[in-house]
Amino acid sequence: MNLTEQQRRAYLEAMGIELWVPRAEPEPASAPAVTGNEGREPPGWHELRSRVAACTRCGLHEGRTKTVFGVGDEQARWMLVGEAPGAEEDRRGEPFVGRAGKLLDEILRAVGLGRESVYITNTVKCRPPGNRDPAPAEMGACRAYLDRQIELVDPDVIVAIGKVAAQNLLGSDAPVGRMRGRPHALGGIPLVVTYHPAYLLRSPAQKRLVWEDLCLARRIVQGVDAA
Ligand code: URA
Ligand code: SF4
Repeated sequence: MNLTEQQRRAYLEAMGIELWVPRAEPEPASAPAVTGNEGREPPGWHELRSRVAACTRCGLHEGRTKTVFGVGDEQARWMLVGEAPGAEEDRRGEPFVGRAGKLLDEILRAVGLGRESVYITNTVKCRPPGNRDPAPAEMGACRAYLDRQIELVDPDVIVAIGKVAAQNLLGSDAPVGRMRGRPHALGGIPLVVTYHPAYLLRSPAQKRLVWEDLCLARRIVQGVDAA
């Protein structure tokens, strides 16, 4: 995972692990013992969900009705990351349940996937006011939760749904048209970029490209294409 120092600090803070030392990093022989932190595990699903439910790490908490943590198979091979909860998601506490969500369900069915067989979440867990794009700082504040969800699911492929998710996950400012069509990687996990269903509602002709993107993701899961 390529984290900036700021993201790393946010991660540790959000995880409630102040002096967590990555396992892979050997401690110098002379380092004093970090009492109480050795072997402390990062949060599991239950703990992570409660932390999100109580989170006030960014201003989006002020306007939310419910946090939208994520749904689906916690051991899914496919993990879908959208942008942010909208009005319906905020009301129900579930991602992609509005109009765009219905279209996403249809698209998933077209490639033989049910909503319950994938894991779906967003870059931020609280609804931005007026459905504006989440700000980089808000996505940064929320990123640790997403990163831990990715670690826990450990999917075979991540699908970034739309520009906001793709740019945030890949640290890029390229348009979707330039990021889609080929595999990327995130912390060693293949990542495919596609258009957001809200965009498809306005430009239905692009559905064919989304179909192609999901076929690419399927080939990755089947081990045909590598990142
Ligand atoms: N759009 C998103 O990106 N995510 C949702 O959860 C709903 C709509
Ligand atoms: Fe916390 Fe994320 Fe909600 Fe911001 S969007 S308050 S970081 S859960």
